[in-house]
Amino acid sequence: MIAMTQVVPPPAWRQHARCKGVDPEVFHPSEEDDDSTEAKAICALCPVRKACLEHALAVREKHGVWGGLTERERRRLIRQRRRAS
Ligand code: SF4
Repeated sequence: MIAMTQVVPPPAWRQHARCKGVDPEVFHPSEEDDDSTEAKAICALCPVRKACLEHALAVREKHGVWGGLTERERRRLIRQRRRAS
């Protein structure tokens, strides 16, 4: 029997991510530190911010800053969207 492994390519928008090459720690601040300022500054000028945020919301990404929002901010946005629908 041949094992089938499906390799899922990363979304195309990631090629244009402004965070490419940036230390991932910036986007995953420790709980004690909890400072997302630097990550948010990078995201603010990112050309794929919206696609990144929608991806994080779609997969329920639990950790880190995505699309300029922290985990807590994404949860809040999900609740707001549910209420509005
Ligand atoms: S929005 Fe932020 S986390 Fe998402 S790709 Fe752009 S720089 Fe990276």
